[in-house]
Amino acid sequence: MKKGKVYLVGAGPGDETLITLRAIQVLGLADCVIYDGLANESLLRYAPIEAEKVGVRKRTGPRPWTQSEIDALLLDKAKEGKIVVRLKGGDPGLFGRAPEEAALCAQEEIPFEIVPGITAGLAAAAYAGIFLTDRDHASQVVFVTGREAATKTEATLDYRFLSGFDGTIVLYMAMGNLDQITSHLIDGGKNPATPVAVIQNATTPRQRLLKSQLDLVAMECREKDFGAPSIVIIGPTAVGNDPFNWFMNRALFGKHIVIARDPAGNDVLAEKLAAAGAIPIRFNAVRIIDQSDSPPTQEAISRLSEYDWIMFTSANGVRHAFKALYSAGRDARAFGKAKVACIGKQTADILESFGIRADFVPAKYTSEIMAKELCSLESLKGKRIVLLRSGIAPKDLVETFTAVGAQVDDVAVYTVEPNRENIEEIREQIQARGIDWLTFTSSSTVRSFLDQIPVSLVREAGLKIGSIGPVATKQLKALGLEPTLEADVHTIDGLLAAIEQYEENHRDSQVSKKR
Ligand code: SAH
Repeated sequence: MKKGKVYLVGAGPGDETLITLRAIQVLGLADCVIYDGLANESLLRYAPIEAEKVGVRKRTGPRPWTQSEIDALLLDKAKEGKIVVRLKGGDPGLFGRAPEEAALCAQEEIPFEIVPGITAGLAAAAYAGIFLTDRDHASQVVFVTGREAATKTEATLDYRFLSGFDGTIVLYMAMGNLDQITSHLIDGGKNPATPVAVIQNATTPRQRLLKSQLDLVAMECREKDFGAPSIVIIGPTAVGNDPFNWFMNRALFGKHIVIARDPAGNDVLAEKLAAAGAIPIRFNAVRIIDQSDSPPTQEAISRLSEYDWIMFTSANGVRHAFKALYSAGRDARAFGKAKVACIGKQTADILESFGIRADFVPAKYTSEIMAKELCSLESLKGKRIVLLRSGIAPKDLVETFTAVGAQVDDVAVYTVEPNRENIEEIREQIQARGIDWLTFTSSSTVRSFLDQIPVSLVREAGLKIGSIGPVATKQLKALGLEPTLEADVHTIDGLLAAIEQYEENHRDSQVSKKR
């Protein structure tokens, strides 16, 4: 029987870009991914779509997993001949159960590999501007687990050693026992004024940092509600240096920003915002409903080569048409001799990625121009045309082509519906003053947002409003809202830059007020 293989893989500390290239490679090979609660779930997208993905949170989630259940799952899958990626937070070798999992593999003669990861202790320090060693203050570092303190006798943690240790102590899993740990260290002779830094949710937009000292830190953590997952750094280097705290000093760090675009556009903007440190909140004004398996779509797809012209008016149309084609077990050859027209370069580019080059892309990107140009290019009298597009597209194309004698099939391969999915959540967050900015990239999203969220609420909450350009601004004003800023350059990047600049200026004035 074919034997599988197990990869024990470090996912890094939280920020998904802190994973290794090797980890991404092995994720791409996986038949099954077994992932921990601390591993960033968005990393699962590097595994094949068809790979099985099993979350094995130990303490949270709908059902807590025990280590023996995880072991059994790992073995079962590997024995089925599968490539199993065991994805763990940070580094698999530090304070996890990788040693047991490796021992099991060895015992069952299942080949395995270990892919190291960036451990939370190193990442938390780097993302809080703390250098764990420095020539003047610390030339040694220890990694220590604080969990032991609760479950085992004091002797497990060598407090005598740690109290006398003059380097940097990096504590994992310490939040439950911080009182005992710090008291033991002080009792052992460590200076109560030793600097301590606590970093919660390190490397994520929700990162928090507390700077304190050994005798006060446990109390301050309680007061300020610092909990797991946190790294506690003890020693002279924990003082850090505020200007070194590059991650949290970024202008957009931790800002909650509502983005209101179509879902694909939201993904692009969300990624850019997250990279700048903000917390994007998606308002998906519309939802795309797949119609690729509807009878009219399937019918049109089965007769594609009988048409003279196949027309696409959006990237979504292309994607859904190909979805229908593939699910019917066919491919681009189904187009046969039919010619293909696309509105817009983006639509044509997507089409090309599926192996079809458009015969006709109008110079200007509207349906009306497409119709006019095509009619002047060749006679459409008696020609058979199929439009593969959205169910709510205007009918003018159909009318124009029918008027010149063509026979037109207008096929909805997808449709678009207003989406109210998360509007309640956003409303509550605004009421709770948990939102900093609203951003608008078109007048239609201004309308759909303010259709559902009253202007008065936006005003009361004092939300800042970023507009991409004059058209969105005009719509905002028409509905009674004055944008806080309008981007000079009317692109997503222009809008992002304007908001960053605003926050930067604003911070300067706050700092000078304090002085
Ligand atoms: N193997 C992991 C550690 C697992 S133990 C690693 O190498 O990072 C779990 C502990 O790791 C948590 O209790 C916390 O102390 C720490 N931790 C993990 N992710 C963290 C994060 N994003 N921020 C702060 N601490 C984190």
